[in-house]
Amino acid sequence: MDYIATLLTSIQTALSITESMSKSFSIMKNAEYTLKIADLMNILADAKINISELKNEIDNKISQIQKLNNLLETKEKLEFKEPFYYMQGKPDAYCSRCWDKDNRLIHVGPLVKTNIDKIRICPECKNEYIVEQEKISMGAIKTSR
Ligand SMILES: [Zn+2]
Repeated sequence: MDYIATLLTSIQTALSITESMSKSFSIMKNAEYTLKIADLMNILADAKINISELKNEIDNKISQIQKLNNLLETKEKLEFKEPFYYMQGKPDAYCSRCWDKDNRLIHVGPLVKTNIDKIRICPECKNEYIVEQEKISMGAIKTSR
């Protein structure tokens, strides 16, 4: 923020000029001028603080905008192929619950075989996704989803 840096420099210069004026012998003799210069110094000091806070707020907003832009870019690259999300052209599967709920990309765990299903588990939310179900009747017949 070049404008803010310039503004801070201007205020600092005004403060320095005001301080040197307050030390001037002719002004020190006049109580009214002394009070006005003290007021002016207070106003400039407050302005300096407010501008610094404004700079922090703007920096925070810029950071938020960057995070939202990154999120938007990620959303544009994601594809949903039930039950997982995938980055375009990449094989890694991401937990759809974690993405839908918190916009977090969490790799689901490897295929795990249970008694009746083949599942993948999200290490974060522990959601279990049935990837393949086995029907047991006169031998195992697999049907994939
Ligand atoms: Zn998850």
